[in-house]
Amino acid sequence: MEIRILGAHNVESVNTRLTSLLVDGVLAVDAGALTSSLTFAEQEKISSILLTHSHYDHIRDVPAIALNISYVRKYIKVYSQASTLDAILSNVLNDVIYPNFTRRPAERPALKFFPLEPYQAADVDGYKVVALPVKHAVPAAGYQITSKEGKSFFHSGDSGPGLCSCWEHISPQLLIIDLTMPNGLEEHAIPAGHLTPRLLGEELKQFQKVKGYLPPVVVIHLASLFEKQIREETAQLAKELGTKITLGHEGMKLRV
Ligand SMILES: [Zn+2]
Ligand SMILES: [Zn+2]
Repeated sequence: MEIRILGAHNVESVNTRLTSLLVDGVLAVDAGALTSSLTFAEQEKISSILLTHSHYDHIRDVPAIALNISYVRKYIKVYSQASTLDAILSNVLNDVIYPNFTRRPAERPALKFFPLEPYQAADVDGYKVVALPVKHAVPAAGYQITSKEGKSFFHSGDSGPGLCSCWEHISPQLLIIDLTMPNGLEEHAIPAGHLTPRLLGEELKQFQKVKGYLPPVVVIHLASLFEKQIREETAQLAKELGTKITLGHEGMKLRV
C-alpha cells in the first residue's frame, strides 16, 4: 500500500498544503489538498474519500473535486461519521455556498455520502476501514486502513490527548498522527484538540504498553511557523522512545 502525503500542514501557502493523504492513488483521507495537488486525471482516479471531521482544512476540496468530477460523468463516494456528513450538507453543500452535489447533476450526482459507524469495519473499495472516535474540538474520527494484503496504517486526523483509547482496537504497521504545535504551546494545543511532541510521547508510551511494539510514526498537520521547533522536539522524543518519528511533507511517499 502506498500512502502519498498531499498536504502535511494546517496552514496553506505556495509551499504548504492542508491535510490530505492519498492511498494507492484511489482512496483519499481528508480533502485539504485534493484539487490543489492533483491533476484532473489523478482526481478522476479517486473513488472514495474518508473524512476525519468537518473542519475546513480537512473538507475544503470536497466541493471543488465534486464540480470537477461532475464534468466527467463520474461520482466519488464520501465516508465519515453521520454528524460530519450532515455538517457538510448543512453548511457547505447547501445550495447557497455551493450546490448540493449529492443531488446534482440530477442525472448522475457527483457525490454519494455513506455514514460510518465507529468501531465497525467497513469495506471501502476493497480496503478494510475502521473509524475510531478521537478527542477534538468537533466530533472526529481516526481511521485504520487495511489493504487486501493485510498491511495497515492508522491516521489520527486531528486529535488531542486521549488518542490511546484507540490503541486496543488497532494493530497498524505505521502511525500518521496530528502534531500541530511545539511543547511551549501545550496550553493552546489541549483545548483545541491537538498534540505537541510531549503529549504525543505520552500516547506512544501507551501504545507500546498496550501493543508491545511501536511502529514508525509520521507526524502531519504541522503549523509551519513552529516547524523547526517541532522538528527538534520530535527528534528528542524519537531518541527517548527508541523509535522512528518523521515530520511529514508534501509529496512524501510512504509504504506499508
Ligand atoms: Zn480540526
Ligand atoms: Zn485541522
